[in-house]
Amino acid sequence: MNFYVMTLFPDMITNGLNTSITGRAIEKGLLSVEAVDIRDFSTNKHMKVDDYPYGGGAGMVMQAPPVCAAFDSIVQRSGHRPRVVYMTPQGHTFTQKMAHEFAKEDDLVILCGHYEGIDERALEAIVTDYVSIGDYVLTGGELPAMVVIDTISRLVPGVLNNSESAETESFENGLLEYPQYTRPVEFNGMRVPDVLLSGHHGKVEEWRYQKSLERTKKFRPDMYEAYIKESAKDNEK
Ligand code: SAM
Repeated sequence: MNFYVMTLFPDMITNGLNTSITGRAIEKGLLSVEAVDIRDFSTNKHMKVDDYPYGGGAGMVMQAPPVCAAFDSIVQRSGHRPRVVYMTPQGHTFTQKMAHEFAKEDDLVILCGHYEGIDERALEAIVTDYVSIGDYVLTGGELPAMVVIDTISRLVPGVLNNSESAETESFENGLLEYPQYTRPVEFNGMRVPDVLLSGHHGKVEEWRYQKSLERTKKFRPDMYEAYIKESAKDNEK
């Protein structure tokens, strides 16, 4: 899968994603992440890409021409018009379900704003999806873009060593994941639950399911309610 990240701070993207699991996937050729520097497409002699907002008010606004020119260069190179996700606090809140949907694309463009945001005309011209990572305001779209890319990357076949680990993860089945334990068996007087040491696969599965239910009810009552409703519907069928 190929990600094109349109940004004014390309180093943030490359430094952030070239490590750990995404870095390994890039090395293996399972992913490519190209940071497209919007400033390279400025026609201003000082390479300016922002200006004062019409109508007055605080801050600066990213101008439409360099943003659209940067996108045109991606269209030319990829040979088609890929989906463009604009990272914005005004968008739909990012979910695991959205990550699955985006993971179906071969090419995905992520547009990062800065300052007060981007001239609306550029957004109207190129953006297909408006996505937020939560109800708070960051200084730029680069961290949100990394959150989105990291989440999608884990769903690309081959990126995780053990494909099972993505399937049992929180949100995948409408529940939060059960608690995890590793060696030593005893730590500070706390023991790993006996069932996990029993070697009885069926009992382990049942214990994990019950724990998933318990913690979803405790930490995410909204998700728990939805899960119970869905399960009741399935049982009626
Ligand atoms: N003036 C904008 C508003 O009130 O909606 C906020 C602009 S914010 C300071 C600058 C950029 O950071 C945005 O264009 C967006 O790309 C990014 N950003 C900030 N918070 C975000 C969030 N919660 N989710 C996704 N992107 C965000």
